[in-house]
Amino acid sequence: MYLEDSKIIVIKIGSSLLIDDNRRIRKRWLSEFAKDIGELIEKSKKIIIVSSGAIAMGCKKLNLSKKNLKIDKSQAVASIGQIELMNLFLETFIKEKINISQILLTLEDTEQRRRALNAKRTFDNLFQLGFVPIINENDTIATTEIKYGDNDRLASRVAQISGADTLILLSDVAGLYTQNPKVFKNAKLLKEIKNIDKDIEKIATQSVSEHGTGGMKTKIEAAKICQLSGCRMVIANGLLMRPIKKIIDENYCTWFLPKISKLDARKKWIISSVSPKGEIVIDDGARQALSNGKSLLAAGIKKVSGKFKKGDHIKVLNKKNSECARGLSSFSSDEIIKIMGHHSKEIEKLLGYVTKSEVIHKDDMVEV
Ligand code: GLU
Repeated sequence: MYLEDSKIIVIKIGSSLLIDDNRRIRKRWLSEFAKDIGELIEKSKKIIIVSSGAIAMGCKKLNLSKKNLKIDKSQAVASIGQIELMNLFLETFIKEKINISQILLTLEDTEQRRRALNAKRTFDNLFQLGFVPIINENDTIATTEIKYGDNDRLASRVAQISGADTLILLSDVAGLYTQNPKVFKNAKLLKEIKNIDKDIEKIATQSVSEHGTGGMKTKIEAAKICQLSGCRMVIANGLLMRPIKKIIDENYCTWFLPKISKLDARKKWIISSVSPKGEIVIDDGARQALSNGKSLLAAGIKKVSGKFKKGDHIKVLNKKNSECARGLSSFSSDEIIKIMGHHSKEIEKLLGYVTKSEVIHKDDMVEV
């Protein structure tokens, strides 16, 4: 089952799951949802939640209607509502002993590589600390031109950056149907989509759209991003109690399968780095090892240049100074200076702390 073998799962919840048409907060639903998250954490899954609802919560507090809200006003409303939203999560999740944190992202944070890398590092550190990040778009400062506007696409970028295996879009419909199920009785739910062709796009534009900003169109856009990131995506009915458990038990939802593997997606991303932060020169033995698909070890490194941190993109050069690979360094440039030329077993002694043994792991490296 897809969720069972996912290590990192991003879950997006729309405003209509948190607040009903009568502006009542769906407290019971959120408590049940927290149980779902608790169970996933127990199974050692790393969870990121992308939640809408800032504007809806702000409107509730101010007794305003969401319709006809002008952008500048909606920014203030979002600022008021975001804190209410997080408060709601905090008081609900604490009952399940789940620690949460808040991250507000703008479009630039996900589209600019450096910022995206920073975001990834923060996700990883939060996982290590045992916290579940809850993300929303930073509506308070984003203007229309530089705004996602819908959390479906934002969630797919978050899935891509975090290296998620699955993105779950909890909607108020079970998934994508062959026809509008409210009109056509024999409409069928599409269970698995490998290729988003013209027919699928057409169905998506005609299908029942939910209350939120996105509708089915932005979900298809999100699916396309996921397909190229090696991430599965599922649209499922979030209105039901224990929606994640329902996906696992009943699987009545629409899955979009990735077009490339997560590893290939990661490698593509590594190779497309615009500005590697440094370079390392390696000897012939290490060069040969790289060609055989092995990781880069400290022993084969002759020289380091540039100043870089752990996780930064770097170039790998052969003895003649021509680029032979690119990758993400597991050490900072300062650390590499201390360990280069040495056997991996000596690293701990040289640095005085426990670290990885490869300077660039094979999964983080692409030959050029
Ligand atoms: N960021 C918006 C909010 O919190 C929601 C965007 C969406 O509906 O996808 O209200």
